[in-house]
Amino acid sequence: MIPTGELGSSSRPVRVAIIGAGPSGFYAAGALLQQKDAHVTIDIFDRLPTPYGLVRYGVAPDHQKIKSVTRIYERTMKDSRVRYFGNVNLGTDISHADLKAYYDQIIYAVGAQSDRKLDIPGEDLGGSFSATEFVAWYNGHPDFRHYEFDLTVESVAVIGVGNVAMDVTRILAKSVDELKTTDITDYALEELRESKVRRIHIFARRGPVQAKFTNPEIKELGELEVADVIVNPADLVLDEASQAELAEDRTAQRNMETLRELAERGSTGKPKQIIFHFLRSPTEISGSGGTVSAMKTEKNALYATETGYLSCRGTGTYKEFDVGLIFRSIGYRGVPIPGVPFYDRWGIIPNERGRVTAEHGGAVVSGEYAVGWAKRGPTGVIGTNKPDAVETVKMMMEDVKSAAIPAVGAIGTAANGQQSPQPGGQNGRVDNIVAFLRERGAAFVSFADWQILEQIENERGAQRGQPRVKITDVKEMLRLIRTAKEGVAP
Ligand code: NAP
Repeated sequence: MIPTGELGSSSRPVRVAIIGAGPSGFYAAGALLQQKDAHVTIDIFDRLPTPYGLVRYGVAPDHQKIKSVTRIYERTMKDSRVRYFGNVNLGTDISHADLKAYYDQIIYAVGAQSDRKLDIPGEDLGGSFSATEFVAWYNGHPDFRHYEFDLTVESVAVIGVGNVAMDVTRILAKSVDELKTTDITDYALEELRESKVRRIHIFARRGPVQAKFTNPEIKELGELEVADVIVNPADLVLDEASQAELAEDRTAQRNMETLRELAERGSTGKPKQIIFHFLRSPTEISGSGGTVSAMKTEKNALYATETGYLSCRGTGTYKEFDVGLIFRSIGYRGVPIPGVPFYDRWGIIPNERGRVTAEHGGAVVSGEYAVGWAKRGPTGVIGTNKPDAVETVKMMMEDVKSAAIPAVGAIGTAANGQQSPQPGGQNGRVDNIVAFLRERGAAFVSFADWQILEQIENERGAQRGQPRVKITDVKEMLRLIRTAKEGVAP
């Protein structure tokens, strides 16, 4: 037990700020609450009013089951030691220095908010997007709701064969009937209703064994109402190195089985086609009038690098595809936060098992930590973030016990545990951060406020046979919360 008055004791809990209310942030909060030795209080910040990050804005609308994970996060929020501050932007509403002044430990759970580039000519033409933009648009992310995607084109290219590529392809290939009972946004459903897209070309730079999608996702493509999957049987003939890789990889074996079935089935006359192209990389995007009209590709061959990794290189044989829209789905990338170290090469916050370091392989930055994609890069499924967060929290607790972090001074301790005269605090534990945010004019959203919004979304959804009807405009979110709290019908 930590002696009274010391950091981590019941009289002086460790004050933790978690930046980002996505899965990794919530798993970190959950792991902290389970600590038996040290007392903690946790404030979770998100720049949007709505919590849950990629569960709300990344997971595909037709994958509702995955979204039920939020019940676990709700349980975390029921704990009186945790508070939520939505609509608070690190950098404008609160700075890195402010956080350092108020909190003993800061966890960055900011994910990977940008995307990788292909670095080929024409990539910035109109009609060339990252998959993440399209995903954020159809999922109702406030920053992307105004994007426009011209779905009146007949052919679309999706670059990359990870699960995000599968999501994007499925949404483009599904019928409106298949989508209308999901929580896809109204505006996206309307655009998809008018969609003229008939061919979705998927380009994999390596072979089918090296595809990153998981088996349920590729299987799902084969079960769509109005789209056939076209796989060229010749693409499934494997070289020796791929055969060896396949023998060791259960997911790849299942994927190959599915791809063989799809190749055998071929076209069944459905109106849309999803066409796989393995061992093919885009080399140039061309356009007319500033908008994508074609994409040049090069056939690749695999070769083993020194480490045995099967990489690919061009063979000098090219083929052009007429496409009107391109979605790069080649991975996410972190975005630097002012005042926080960033390792540009990997697009992450440099860290040592979750402890932030001043640079890659550098000295530990006291009291700062990373979890999730910000820590390890954009890999793994939602559940991967749980052990990842547990590891970081273990480092945090070690640091508390070894007094490697100094307790923050007067600002942190003076107000802790005091009953604030200000309304709007949550769980009866109101302190200076609330006053600070108010002073800054930050219209922060509490978890109870979010639940007002959630209820409105759910009620609207229930009326239409949808899980929820998402509110996508921040001003509208704040207005609805305000009117509900004032007791006025929205
Ligand atoms: P990912 O799984 O890393 O896939 C990226 C794809 O892009 C790979 O096929 C990769 O090929 C390809 N690629 C990378 N650079 C390229 C280039 N320059 N040219 C052509 N192709 C290139 O990433 P993701 O699809 O963005 O998914 C991120 C994470 O979220 C993954 O762990 C994924 O499983 C997860 N996720 C899960 C679900 C789900 O569970 N349903 C849904 C969505 C996302 P190489 O293999 O050759 O590098």
